Amino acid sequence: MIFDSFLGNEESKARVLRLCESGRLPHALLLEGERGSGRFLFARMLAAAAVCRRENTGCGKCPDCRMALEGRHPDVEVYQKGGERTLAISSLREITRNVAAPPVQGRRRVVILRDIQDAAQIRTLNALLKVIEEPPEYLMFIITADSRQGILPTIVSRCMILRVALPDVETCAEEAARLAGDVPQEEARRCALLCRGNIGRCVLLLTDTPEAKAMQDAQRIRELLSSAEGQYDLLLLLRRYERDRSGYRELIRCLQEVFASSLTGGMSGAADDPPCRMTARQGLRILQALSLIADEGRQNLNLPLALTQLCARLYAAVNS
Ligand SMILES: [Zn+2]
Repeated sequence: MIFDSFLGNEESKARVLRLCESGRLPHALLLEGERGSGRFLFARMLAAAAVCRRENTGCGKCPDCRMALEGRHPDVEVYQKGGERTLAISSLREITRNVAAPPVQGRRRVVILRDIQDAAQIRTLNALLKVIEEPPEYLMFIITADSRQGILPTIVSRCMILRVALPDVETCAEEAARLAGDVPQEEARRCALLCRGNIGRCVLLLTDTPEAKAMQDAQRIRELLSSAEGQYDLLLLLRRYERDRSGYRELIRCLQEVFASSLTGGMSGAADDPPCRMTARQGLRILQALSLIADEGRQNLNLPLALTQLCARLYAAVNS
């Protein structure tokens, strides 16, 4: 079965299996889970199960399953921001025209609306209310999102909601090490702990990506904050983000992860983390400051100024 290879999430998988076997896959599904949780992979698997040639099984082996999984099935369309088919108000007409077309080679057509996150995408989705409310018999919608927040309740009520949860840290470490290739198990475990079992994030941290760099910096910042003389080094480190807006946002996100995981693992952090002499109260204050900073970071801000303020606010949180 196609879902066997999806890690964890036994309850959601069992539910989907029952639906496949009884031939009652719903017309709309909403997959809730954080980015990196595998929600899109799960959506692809569901799409494959919907178009599978062996009636109502999702065998994972027939040509339809394979094409759906590889993203080249003519009856499975993915709409996403910046993708080949975009999800924007301007493409509404195209979307409604496409969903009105019958399947090319099977019984069903699947439309995946991927990563419904920002206000513009939520608006587009909400504008599809009518077709989601009364879809043609052959049509199935799969929506992936962090959460249902912002989506019209009428749409949510039409969807079967499945939660895509993160696997445990050990499973994440193992899978991420396999995907990243040639990574020491210990390193994989350290990253898996930091991202609480989020395999997608863990792979990014293990490979040579801007995310990995930001995470290293975030850990270095945590060390610097526990020493009084670290302020100058911290400013130096932050300078490399002066012209890198997306790097800055990633850094703030990594800082939130690092301090959140320090708090849940006790402020000494995980056993193999470098020691961090910080109290839980200091950690909480830092997290509060970071949450404000992250909100501000969504606007168009002056980066050099934001970085200086970041440094000052982190030290204020430690020292107040
Ligand atoms: Zn199949």
